[in-house]
Amino acid sequence: MSSKDWIEKDFYAVLGVDKAASADDVKKAYRKVARESHPDHNPGDPKAEERFKAASEAYNVLSDSGRRREYDEMRSLFGSGAFRRNARGGGQPGGMPFDVSDMFGGPGGGDRRFGGAGFQDLFSSIFSGGQAGGQAAARGPARGRDVETEVALDFGDAVRGVTLPLTLRAPGVCDTCHGNGAKPGTQPRTCPVCHGAGVTTRDQGSFSFSEPCRNCQGVGTVVEEKCPECHGSGGVTKTRTMNVRFPAGVADGQRIRLAGRGEPGERGGPAGDLFVHVKVRPDELFGRTGDDLTLSVPVTFAEAVLGTDLRVPTLDGAVTLRVPPGTPSGRVLRARGKGVVRRDGQAGDLLVTLDVVVPARLSDEARTALESFAEQTPPAAREHLDARVRRVS
Ligand SMILES: [Zn+2]
Ligand SMILES: [Zn+2]
Repeated sequence: MSSKDWIEKDFYAVLGVDKAASADDVKKAYRKVARESHPDHNPGDPKAEERFKAASEAYNVLSDSGRRREYDEMRSLFGSGAFRRNARGGGQPGGMPFDVSDMFGGPGGGDRRFGGAGFQDLFSSIFSGGQAGGQAAARGPARGRDVETEVALDFGDAVRGVTLPLTLRAPGVCDTCHGNGAKPGTQPRTCPVCHGAGVTTRDQGSFSFSEPCRNCQGVGTVVEEKCPECHGSGGVTKTRTMNVRFPAGVADGQRIRLAGRGEPGERGGPAGDLFVHVKVRPDELFGRTGDDLTLSVPVTFAEAVLGTDLRVPTLDGAVTLRVPPGTPSGRVLRARGKGVVRRDGQAGDLLVTLDVVVPARLSDEARTALESFAEQTPPAAREHLDARVRRVS
């Protein structure tokens, strides 16, 4: 969370509440949006995921009366959109209300439409001697980072859903100090500078600004005797194994978010999220288009002409499909409900494409029969092509 985000984002609009909304109304509104946009209820819908994240971010600020006040002040001082420039991805994890590097972009970053030297001077003076751009958090311990990993699923597992153990080698909470960073037998102490708030307030002309407490790096507590295992960070690298449930119908390229299963936060801060990118191994028989499975079935010319009953495999058994007489090559037959079962219990179809096969070799008898067939068959309907050929030659 940076000041740029604070200025650009309208957290009230995200939650659909009035600026004067009570804490209770904010909570109710957040719960409603979170319920509606929860990734579990909207699998594979990036818009819902985006909305869910935005709501969490908005609630994170508006639910904390101190941060809400800071946010309101920021926006009334600088006006929403006053600093608008090209958006540059999401905010950093962890709060950082005044991050100069983010505010003004790196080398060549963003267009600087916001009024020239005046503002820049104001900010650079606020931050003279500051430790901007560090890992400090505004309030409380920093949130853990998100972790990304990739999993390859078998085709059938992806269609039916599967639970798999997932092993990650990633930072975890230190078992020795349980993540608070203090040597066993000791406790982190409330920071004497900020009295646990994690922020200090400075006056700048007629404004007063909050910034992360430098004594505790915004955590609100200080560790006097550091844990020997993690050297005070609260985290160590571990191998974690967890069971991950992949819902039925998960698709190749889909990303599954497991909230709170990413890296733990510093010294007991909230954990990041785990994002699992799903790869689905192709099946030797079946293809997939959305909720439908696809299958190609070779048929002879005689079967296509005379009609037949085909016995074809599905993912869980077999079905009989009627090929009516006179069916052209490429015709798609549909076995209803034999596709991918969706979350709502409905299933897609199995789409069977008929592929009329031309034999490369014929027995003498077959050749004789075919020649006799050809004699008794009218020529193919090519008159329109023949007419063009005559005109151009
Ligand atoms: Zn430790
Ligand atoms: Zn402090």
